[in-house]
Amino acid sequence: MDLLNQPIMVKKKYKCPICDKLLPDMDNPHSPFCSERCKLVDLEAWLKGRYIVPGEQADTEGEHEENGWNGENE
Ligand SMILES: [Zn+2]
Repeated sequence: MDLLNQPIMVKKKYKCPICDKLLPDMDNPHSPFCSERCKLVDLEAWLKGRYIVPGEQADTEGEHEENGWNGENE
């Protein structure tokens, strides 16, 4: 197995997903972001999403379940 010699990560230009800045390659400590600031912005957004989604889901599911299980199907 010659993993080190395989071009697993092809070096090519890419954009920072946060600020759309064009970056020369993935050879930076904050990849795939251009800087630590963008990395934190993404992390913050991700955390917020995680906090919001479970609450909304639980609310809707609870209503749904109540309506569904009230039927006299048996
Ligand atoms: Zn950026």
